[in-house]
Amino acid sequence: MTEFKPITPQQQPKFAGIKTFMRLPHSQTIQGIDFVVAGVPWDGATSYRTGQRLGPDAIRKISVTLRPYNLALDVDIFEHCSGIDYGDLPVIAGYIEDTYAKIEAELCPLVEAGIIPVLMGGDHSITLPELRAVAKTHGPVALIHFDSHTDTNDQYFGKPYYHGSPFRRAVEEDILLAENSIQIGMRGSVYSKAAYADSTALGFKVITMSALREVGPRKLMEIVRKRVGPHKVFVTFDIDVVDPAFAPGTGTPEVGGFTSAEAVDLVRGLRGLNFVGFDVVEVLPDKDPAEITALLAANIVYEFLSLIALNKKSKKNV
Ligand code: MN
Ligand code: MN
Repeated sequence: MTEFKPITPQQQPKFAGIKTFMRLPHSQTIQGIDFVVAGVPWDGATSYRTGQRLGPDAIRKISVTLRPYNLALDVDIFEHCSGIDYGDLPVIAGYIEDTYAKIEAELCPLVEAGIIPVLMGGDHSITLPELRAVAKTHGPVALIHFDSHTDTNDQYFGKPYYHGSPFRRAVEEDILLAENSIQIGMRGSVYSKAAYADSTALGFKVITMSALREVGPRKLMEIVRKRVGPHKVFVTFDIDVVDPAFAPGTGTPEVGGFTSAEAVDLVRGLRGLNFVGFDVVEVLPDKDPAEITALLAANIVYEFLSLIALNKKSKKNV
């Protein structure tokens, strides 16, 4: 019995009403919930363009066009899951450490209650407090990280927290199982030949875009499954892993990325893993003509919800 599900076009047309993700009820209940979708409107830690604080708003707006049955994965999300749009997590513009504390505090009771958080950024610095909250209940987890950048730099003008360092911090804090984690899609100009050596030294496996083109998507999924194994896993999807032709609305674009079709297929390929949380980050509406990037981000979130539902469906069938 799923208590919380989207309103249908028979109840009210899609263009009407207040915009929540996929027209889910806006609620902050933690009773009878399998997942929450929440925004994290934070862009105080970017290294180039800013404006990702408006990402959640843009994703919600276009997400009203999504429909509950995922034909590719053969699952009706709300036949198996109850979910809400939790609204936006609290942020304090200009104060990253206070914001981190607020995000973690807000997420902890949800994760503790067995709810899977699905977050919409915001710049990529927000994944660190999300992982802190997840680790408090689950212990260190594996990470599947789609991005054109590794985000494992050390410091930015001597400061530890920005959108280029969350995964180094997470390893240092022992909230990630680096040996079961994988970073996918890295490319673009870098500062030195050893650009990805930092990540490897931290224990991550890095699959660059050029390596990926050689092995192909099927083999990639074998590699991911072998790497993650039965461990609990968090999936983080930086929209800049997608080519700027398909996702121009982002802060630090890199040419030569996935098409939107490839991106959606890769997420679907993760089916059956032991998910404990998801996010999609770095959507920048000001650079997003025709809502093309927000539409893709909404669909990535939709695929995440489908993966959650698929796990529940297969548990029921055991
Ligand atoms: Mn990133
Ligand atoms: Mn990136």
